[in-house]
Amino acid sequence: MSEVGSAACGALSRLSAALPVDPATLSDGQLVRLAEDLAAAHRHLGALDLAVAGEVERRSDPESPSSLAKRLGFKTAAAALQNLTKSSGKEAQKLVTQVTDLKQLPAVEAAVLDGRIGRDAAAAISGELKRAAATADTAELTTAQTELVELAVAADADEVKARAAETAARLSVHMVEDAAKKAMKERYFWVGPTVDGVAKVSGLLPAGHAAVVRGLFDAFVNPKGKKTVAFQPANHGGSERAPSDERTAGQKRADLLRDVCASQARSAESPDMGGDHPTVWLSTTVAELHSGTGLAFYAGTAEPVPVAEAAQAACTGGSQTVVFAPDGDVLRLGRDVRGFTKRQRRAIALRDGGTCLIPGCTVPAQLCEVHHVVPYKDGGPTDVCNGVLLCWYHHHDIDSDPWHIRMRNGTPEVRYAAAGKALDWQPTGDGAATRIRAGAPSGAPPGAPPND
Ligand SMILES: [Zn+2]
Repeated sequence: MSEVGSAACGALSRLSAALPVDPATLSDGQLVRLAEDLAAAHRHLGALDLAVAGEVERRSDPESPSSLAKRLGFKTAAAALQNLTKSSGKEAQKLVTQVTDLKQLPAVEAAVLDGRIGRDAAAAISGELKRAAATADTAELTTAQTELVELAVAADADEVKARAAETAARLSVHMVEDAAKKAMKERYFWVGPTVDGVAKVSGLLPAGHAAVVRGLFDAFVNPKGKKTVAFQPANHGGSERAPSDERTAGQKRADLLRDVCASQARSAESPDMGGDHPTVWLSTTVAELHSGTGLAFYAGTAEPVPVAEAAQAACTGGSQTVVFAPDGDVLRLGRDVRGFTKRQRRAIALRDGGTCLIPGCTVPAQLCEVHHVVPYKDGGPTDVCNGVLLCWYHHHDIDSDPWHIRMRNGTPEVRYAAAGKALDWQPTGDGAATRIRAGAPSGAPPGAPPND
């Protein structure tokens, strides 16, 4: 490292000429100049910080008995610098690390030491390029440093960091390939056993897997979503607002993951030939199911859940009664109560607007459950006039506050009541069916497929 600071004098003397100063008294032009002079002075002082730290480190070889750090009473150069500069241990270590990193990137080091770029910009470059520095082609590495230094003179550190990341990836394609191979080898997803009502999940996803999952979450879990939503359809006169969804983004992601898996299970091929869809079985007693109080059990786990979960599953997916003898023999298989068919689901989705019926909820129809508005056990038919689409979350407590649903002339209406807030019955969905009905000629159009 040679002499440092030859370009610093101009910047420092310009700054000192402006002092003392009360920024409030400056014109806009003077204030901008002062900010620029201050930034230049920072860059030069940063260069001196780096040069001095580099020299302290060079003189503090831990193997040497004449180590400067040891003579000052410290084990390492970083500890000596922390004491000398009264900075934090983290800050002192960062300085020493930067000295080491920049040794691999001489063009960047030179640009910092002569004050062309700041230490932040240099850290943004070296943080990315150092991964590639050991294996990259020397000429390519030099060109990359020069280009990034030129960018750093004009652009902010965030932009420099983004470009440096791209450059590092380009310089080390094999490292990216190796990382992808490692990710594929290490990928896993794990759902743990249920303990105290919850199961832990963990995993490592390769970049592409993560992009698909993240893309789905981003599409339907919007933490910047509107706080309130207007009741639909708009022609209802509605200035009334529905309350916001109070779930956290994390809770929404958990619910969405469940909805996506359930949707996939529903759409599996060939239930007629090969047995059932992938199905989650819940068992309970008829008495508990009808009273709404008691326990249910997911197949394959001994941990009980509230019977309401079985009621929700029966509402959307159907049920079957099995009569056991006291010794456990199956005495009788009851009728298989089917859930809504695919065709019924489509008709309901078309009628209600293609998302969960609850105002403001964006979970799409394909991921929703069909809910019997009048419960099956109370004689409600499994028919489009008694079915509405709800995401799992809005389905799971639809029979208690805050949301309630009823059908009026074949159109669903919702009501909200909770914590002092109440909205009276309103039609919901996007009104597509109403619009179609209003202008349509009677009878099916020529060539329309027959109803099933
Ligand atoms: Zn919903």
